[in-house]
Amino acid sequence: MSEQKRILVTGAGGFIGSHLVTFLKNKGYWVRGVDLKHPEFTESDADEFEILDMRRLAQCLEATSDVDEVYALAADMGGMGFISSNHATILYNNSTINLNTLEAAHQNGAKRYLYTSSACIYPEFLQEEADVKPLAEEDAYPAMPQDAYGWEKLVSERLCMHYREDFGIETRTVRFHNIFGEKGTWEGGREKAPAAMCRKVATAKLTGEPEIEIWGDGEQTRSFCHVDDCVEGIVRLMDSDFHEPINLGQDRMVTINELVDIISEIAGFEVTRKHIDGPQGVRGRNSDNTKLREVLKWEPAISLEDGLKRTYDWIEGEVKNSLNKKAAQGS
Ligand code: NAD
Repeated sequence: MSEQKRILVTGAGGFIGSHLVTFLKNKGYWVRGVDLKHPEFTESDADEFEILDMRRLAQCLEATSDVDEVYALAADMGGMGFISSNHATILYNNSTINLNTLEAAHQNGAKRYLYTSSACIYPEFLQEEADVKPLAEEDAYPAMPQDAYGWEKLVSERLCMHYREDFGIETRTVRFHNIFGEKGTWEGGREKAPAAMCRKVATAKLTGEPEIEIWGDGEQTRSFCHVDDCVEGIVRLMDSDFHEPINLGQDRMVTINELVDIISEIAGFEVTRKHIDGPQGVRGRNSDNTKLREVLKWEPAISLEDGLKRTYDWIEGEVKNSLNKKAAQGS
């Protein structure tokens, strides 16, 4: 009988990491999770969970000891509000995390290493129109990401390439396009558009005050991929022999206004919109999934409506609890 595979997930206290741990456990692997914090909304399913700071090489060596594979998800990150206003901190924290995690995995002899990059690496000049051409992997160069977050991701992609070429560790690099779902940050400033819009619509419905705020005119476009598809895709990629960077997302592009329409329909509550100034990121972005289909013979299957229904129901429950708590404190 073959030995049970031993896997490390960094960022296991975060949104995608906590879902990934559960997915890997369901496949029968031994899993260690590490993060600066425990998952916020659920107990981790990991066999071992350690609080470690992956900016420090010594702690990375501890995290990567005696594992076959590393899924590197730890990052200092958030939605546009956070990414557009914390460049130095993001560049410092994420560079040190990725330099040290990969070096430690190499020193400890891990065989495979999956790095989670982002659609934010693509050049800003290809994303100036709402009706944008889907981004294919080779569009990354000549490079001109919009923010420090994207530049760091691009350098870490290259780090993976060089460690594979120079040291033989099998690296995989995935570029996520807006992953959303249940049990992710939905308030506090780091939440992303789908969670923020679900929270705003749920709050409007539960308080009976229909007006919600939207950053910009709401005509900026994105594609959104449910987290269950995301974790399935990255495990398929890790198990494949493909080592170039690859997109992982949906390729159905919607405007933020259309996103709100869908959520409002799911909630059964009509909102009114107030468009205000706010960080919007690039004007348009979509994933070209040609390579994904070719390489993995697979692509994300959960529709935006299905994924948003699951997410909205969970967030409405969270908003309800939070409003009840505030009411109890006030009474
Ligand atoms: P998340 O913020 O929920 O999870 C990241 C986790 O990393 C957090 O729990 C955080 O505490 C942890 N972390 C931060 N600094 C750390 C440190 N020094 N040591 C140990 N842990 C640390 O984010 P997520 O959405 O789950 O994203 C996971 C990965 O996917 C990240 O690398 C992110 O950049 C990438 N990504 C996500 C998306 C998306 O749409 N969610 C899009 C593109 C790329």
